Amino acid sequence: MRTPLIAGNWKMYKTEAEAVDTVRQLATAVADVTAVEVMVAPPFTALSAVAREANGTRVRVGAQNLFWESEGAFTGEIAPGMLTALGCTYVIVGHSERRQYFGETDGTVNRRVQAALSAGLIPVLCVGETEAQRDAGQTFSVLDKQMKIGLQGVSLKKPGDLVVAYEPVWAIGTGKTATSAQAQEVHRHLRERLGGQLTPEIAEGIRILYGGSVKPGNATELMAMPDIDGALVGGASLDADTFSRIVRF
Ligand code: PEP
Repeated sequence: MRTPLIAGNWKMYKTEAEAVDTVRQLATAVADVTAVEVMVAPPFTALSAVAREANGTRVRVGAQNLFWESEGAFTGEIAPGMLTALGCTYVIVGHSERRQYFGETDGTVNRRVQAALSAGLIPVLCVGETEAQRDAGQTFSVLDKQMKIGLQGVSLKKPGDLVVAYEPVWAIGTGKTATSAQAQEVHRHLRERLGGQLTPEIAEGIRILYGGSVKPGNATELMAMPDIDGALVGGASLDADTFSRIVRF
């Protein structure tokens, strides 16, 4: 039985004060939700304050990225241990915006996944095809490569140690959502792949989230699919009331 995870990616939005305000409202709004896990990933500058505010509530905290070295002369980077010290549980890895604007590759994504696991953080590995790749019939081959390299050398102690997020690039921030049938087809495929790369037993327990213009109005249908185990939500996670309605899909 996989506990659904609804995760909010706040990207480069919210000052520390705004983020604390939102997490406080969110924690109140989801205080009675026990069947769904809730996570928010604020910008690095708000992580410490948000983690303090979320402590003792139902809201878990994640980072939006990490570097793979444990310390050193790496200006601008954040080490895994710095995140665990703040109380982070999760870290988003390989988001399409990181791949598109900051040159991240499947190889560097793999190093981040491994570093997160070694530090005891749960990586949320993002994969997804562009619109051109989908139109060219390359969806599965693109995803297979992202999964193969992204998870190279990875072995898990338990399924809960990894989360995969299927985020079709054409659906992120565009208002276009994959239909529940399109998403389910991909999620099923990803689970089969995970079974081949890890073990079928581990793959059965890994949560695979859908991301791409998830809103209160489409969450119910998406979450009803057998291999969709939650959502990674961008825009609609910025407002506590809207996000809590997704949590209550
Ligand atoms: C995201 O950035 O991970 C995302 C899914 O964004 P949005 O919900 O805004 O499409």
